[in-house]
Amino acid sequence: MTENHNRIISGPRARFVQARIRAGIFALALKRFGNPFRAYRVLKEIRKRRARIFGSARVKRYILSGGKFYFSDTIPGWPSQAFNSFVTAEISRSEQSRDFHPPIHTVIFAITNRCYLRCNHCYEWQNISASDNLSPDDLIAILHNLYGLNIHHIQLSGGEPLARFNDLIDIIGSAPEGIDFWILTSGFGLSAEKAKMLKKAGLVGADISLDHGMNSSIMSSGTTTALFSGLKKR
Ligand code: SF4
Repeated sequence: MTENHNRIISGPRARFVQARIRAGIFALALKRFGNPFRAYRVLKEIRKRRARIFGSARVKRYILSGGKFYFSDTIPGWPSQAFNSFVTAEISRSEQSRDFHPPIHTVIFAITNRCYLRCNHCYEWQNISASDNLSPDDLIAILHNLYGLNIHHIQLSGGEPLARFNDLIDIIGSAPEGIDFWILTSGFGLSAEKAKMLKKAGLVGADISLDHGMNSSIMSSGTTTALFSGLKKR
């Protein structure tokens, strides 16, 4: 990230950004099919399919961060190679055939089995607190392989990814340029200082589950309050 502060874009500028994004998406579909009518039809189908899964709320705001516009934690920022790869993979999925294997555009990559919490609903109970099998070099090598497969949108999870904080900084910083990294975290142990370090290393965003903390026998309500306070400071 080159900019230190994120900005929310709304109103006419957001509509202008949306028009440019749509034009870019249409150009990618046109490049794929060479026929504007087919490109339009396929994009309409994709919009309908995504609306069934994610809902059809219109995008009214964008977060401008590091020169890219974000409107979802499941879609890379625009403009970027990561965004184009994502859209191209979605377009390819429309080609149904018997031997077709849809391309993968997003990977949730569990980098550790460790976690500080003991959530009641955890389905990783058998694995929590096991030692890590993969070294930072192993993780970086896997990221390079994923990048080679044109996967540019990676959500780092666990266990609790922040349990490997130093490794997290290393692997994000050593990964190929152009990957959008997110972390899926309970937020336990996250401070304003650590958030800044992650952003400096290249992290795009964090999905922080407050529910995990509240359902844990370890995380106290005081800790949850501290987390809220840390988030406000960001
Ligand atoms: S934060 Fe996630 S991994 Fe950790 S105990 Fe809770 S559900 Fe399990």
